[in-house]
Amino acid sequence: MNKRLLSKINRPTLPQGIHSKHDENLIATAEFKVIEHKRIFVLNIFTDKNFDAGLYENKRLNEYYPFIRIFFHKNKYITQDIRTDKTKWYTGKMSNVLEYFSFYGYNNTDTLYASDKTLRKAELFFNVNVGEFKSGKELYKAIRIFQNNILHEKLIEKHSKEFEEIDSYMKQLRKLPKNFYKWIMDTALRFSRYIIYDYNKNSRHFKAYCTHCGKDMMIDSRNLKIRNNKNGKCPLCQSSITYKARKKFPQVKIDSVWCSILQKTKDNKFVLRTFKADKIYCGRGEKENYRIIVAELCRTFYYKDKYKCFEN
Ligand SMILES: [Zn+2]
Repeated sequence: MNKRLLSKINRPTLPQGIHSKHDENLIATAEFKVIEHKRIFVLNIFTDKNFDAGLYENKRLNEYYPFIRIFFHKNKYITQDIRTDKTKWYTGKMSNVLEYFSFYGYNNTDTLYASDKTLRKAELFFNVNVGEFKSGKELYKAIRIFQNNILHEKLIEKHSKEFEEIDSYMKQLRKLPKNFYKWIMDTALRFSRYIIYDYNKNSRHFKAYCTHCGKDMMIDSRNLKIRNNKNGKCPLCQSSITYKARKKFPQVKIDSVWCSILQKTKDNKFVLRTFKADKIYCGRGEKENYRIIVAELCRTFYYKDKYKCFEN
């Protein structure tokens, strides 16, 4: 809709003899106009003088004051502020526009009066049966549903555009190298290897096992001085390990590491993929009782002079 042409439509005056029936704050009148071969439905909203206080720069001596008018065409709408001679536009929903005015202390804005003549015109635009709008209440509801539906459609359209964009990037991804998860286990999580031992003050032999190779062993405390958190080597798999006394090992222990891989994309750009790997030991270091969870957190695509990051 062309705002300049819409502005040229004569501003409304409230026909004599219209009065709200139940002290509604707002009064609506309707008209159809043709602009550039388009049939525009115009809804003029007036406010009751009681509602007006202080809102207007140029007060008129009428009983009702022009307030806003909403132009509808197909699935488009726009609201013009007609309180002053200056032109001001709102793209929001009618309820939001009215809410904006209610900041001034008038929040009872949702009572709308419309004459039968206005309601019949509105029924034509909203394509409902004659007589369906019994009062301004139904008209108000129809406007709300109409505007909500349009916003909903716009949102779906926006989302599908976003998905298309994401897809276009993700199509360029190559598979992770076959040994990537092995690398996480062997290298990124290398620090998470323990020999867990059962301390026994009555014996110099402690039962122990290595969380990496999973093998059991006996530690002779005369030959090997160990204590909780001391670093050492597994005699069986030669891994660097940390000694942990079982009693001091938490019920659940999570060792986490962030790791990234820089890959070439199919279109010869670069993508940095960042993962978080958790090794979770359960049951106070119970043998074989652990899980590894690897989650990809974000993908950053690098182009010549820009980058685009997608978070999971
Ligand atoms: Zn080992």
